[in-house]
Amino acid sequence: MVFRLKSIFTSLIDAFLDLIYNQKCLVCNCSKANTLLCKTCAKDVHYLSVYAHRIYKGVGIYSMAIYRGSVKKLIQLLKFSHRKKAAKVLAELLFEYFKKLDLKEDFIIIYPPSFYLKTMSRGYNHMFLIVKEFSKLSGLKYNSNIIKKIKYTKPQYRARNRKKNIEGSFEILSKEILINNLQNKPFLIIDDITTSGATIEEIINCLILNKITNIKVLTIAKV
Ligand SMILES: [Zn+2]
Repeated sequence: MVFRLKSIFTSLIDAFLDLIYNQKCLVCNCSKANTLLCKTCAKDVHYLSVYAHRIYKGVGIYSMAIYRGSVKKLIQLLKFSHRKKAAKVLAELLFEYFKKLDLKEDFIIIYPPSFYLKTMSRGYNHMFLIVKEFSKLSGLKYNSNIIKKIKYTKPQYRARNRKKNIEGSFEILSKEILINNLQNKPFLIIDDITTSGATIEEIINCLILNKITNIKVLTIAKV
């Protein structure tokens, strides 16, 4: 109930902000462009190469851009200022990058779940919003019911030992569904920011433990 009220409340805030900011660039607020990301701000996206930037246990980890400029601002707006439309812009940027990777598999998209109290306090899971938009653009299906976060972890930048902080935080929710229907499918993990990579590594470990080995990772930004 609390969750629902919170969700309605944030949607109202979003609708109200839309009234004020509609057709303005989310990053610089300029209205001339009549778009959510103006040309000037689009140039302030610091793209990375289309190669895997890291390999962990055989899994390629790709990052679209460096965490600065417009990408940083858009992620912050989405996470801390209830500007849900930023999810659409980020998904569009990410999809353009994804197309260049030329990964042709019929991936099932998953994303790091947030701890339920965290989702309740924000009113929404920002990664779900990005993935939902990405799914519309790519035609790839997503699944929100495979992995669950079972313990609260401090934000990565505050945690002293990132690996230890995140260890044992995730659990496979529906093992039966996974084993019976999804075990041989390719998985694409989408995340917003990668810092130490500890969260992604923990999810990869969790999947590998459950015999899922065809995995790719796509993150929006790399610190
Ligand atoms: Zn702008």
